[in-house]
Amino acid sequence: MKFNKSFHTPDPVPAKGVENAKRLMETGHLFRYNPLDTPENYIDSEKNGQTKLYSDVALLEQEFCEYTGHKYAVAVNSCGSAMFLALKASGVEHGVKVFSNAFTFTAVPSSIVHAGGTPVYLECNADYLLDVDDFKQKVKENPDVRYLLLSYMRGHIADVAHIKQVCDENDICLIEDCAHSLGVKWQDEGSEVSHHIGHHGAAACFSAQSNKLINAGEGGMLVTDDPELAAHCILAAGSYELLYQQHLARPDDDVFEKIKLRIPNYSLRMNNLTAAVIRPQIPELDEKVSAYNALYSQLEEIFTNIEHVETPSILPQVSRVGDSFQFNLVDMTASQIQRFLQRAREQGLELQVFGHTDNARYFRNWLYSFEETPSLEQTEEIITAACDFRLPLSFNSEDLKLITQIIRQLLSEVKD
Ligand SMILES: *Cc1c(COP(=O)(O)O)cnc(C)c1O
Repeated sequence: MKFNKSFHTPDPVPAKGVENAKRLMETGHLFRYNPLDTPENYIDSEKNGQTKLYSDVALLEQEFCEYTGHKYAVAVNSCGSAMFLALKASGVEHGVKVFSNAFTFTAVPSSIVHAGGTPVYLECNADYLLDVDDFKQKVKENPDVRYLLLSYMRGHIADVAHIKQVCDENDICLIEDCAHSLGVKWQDEGSEVSHHIGHHGAAACFSAQSNKLINAGEGGMLVTDDPELAAHCILAAGSYELLYQQHLARPDDDVFEKIKLRIPNYSLRMNNLTAAVIRPQIPELDEKVSAYNALYSQLEEIFTNIEHVETPSILPQVSRVGDSFQFNLVDMTASQIQRFLQRAREQGLELQVFGHTDNARYFRNWLYSFEETPSLEQTEEIITAACDFRLPLSFNSEDLKLITQIIRQLLSEVKD
């Protein structure tokens, strides 16, 4: 038996996106500040009370805000760039320390280093969530740290309400890395309403890289409700002169004029082609989330009956987007894990272990971010036994059956 598709099969771009991208290429209107003059791109703007032509990027920013419920957005070339801008706009400069997850993707500490900062790493727990007790302890030990870049690795959401409270009590600015958590919702305990993740911090950053819920190859989005932060990020992303007026999801002109000549232009803009590819994916998101979650629940159910594996639990406040699958190997030695990983790959199961020597999600490999390897024993223990695979939407029940069959067989092989 073989898998019907590669684990890295990306989701296709909807026909409307292909058509719009083609039109932009044929006319050459690729720069976000050079909109294609077509009736669909004229919008009634509340700002000046007149109908105005907007680019695909400007329209995408508005549509993204409508989806997540934020006021302002700036589209950039990656989530890494969005995090860099958020850190810069909230005051990170050379030598400034920033708390962040020890378990995340290398782009996260890299964005801190890019902004001139130095990461101070926080432990994760067996559910891949930021360990709040460790955070509180490190806040005490490092009273000079004023920032937390909180990463929701693989869409696993820590107790952000509690984390936000600790931030507020200690004058720490919270920025949320939502790269892999678009569509995830948070509902406070005792509350009737849920909202999209990304509303606890000063800014939230999303990704449109192919492995995420939206596929544009590359792309990022920063969203915020803070007018100063929004204006700063729009300008720093590469909006000069009066170009900010071509943004829809933006604060008033005077917010820009006050600061505009003091902000460097980092040229991180998204181009119209990327926006044209993303826009038709937004109305399809909720349906996609349900489809992913249906796959995820099937797998999760089977996994609860497999010996030597544990699946992460989820906080009751969170509704997930299960577009990838993680599990922990229990009671296994490093060499057994190594063998398990190798045998899985031989059978076409594209599995990775986060804490593997060459993995970009293993903090020991982030040599650019520290002089001395930080001691993060808890995270180390967890991620060296934490397995991960992508769950392509095009997988069917046969593929899922094959995954669990291989895992069962290899576990018994490796454990004997
Ligand atoms: C993918 C990812 C990033 C980086 O996103 P890019 O758009 O590739 O810069 C950051 N954090 C997490 C948790 C991710 O999954």
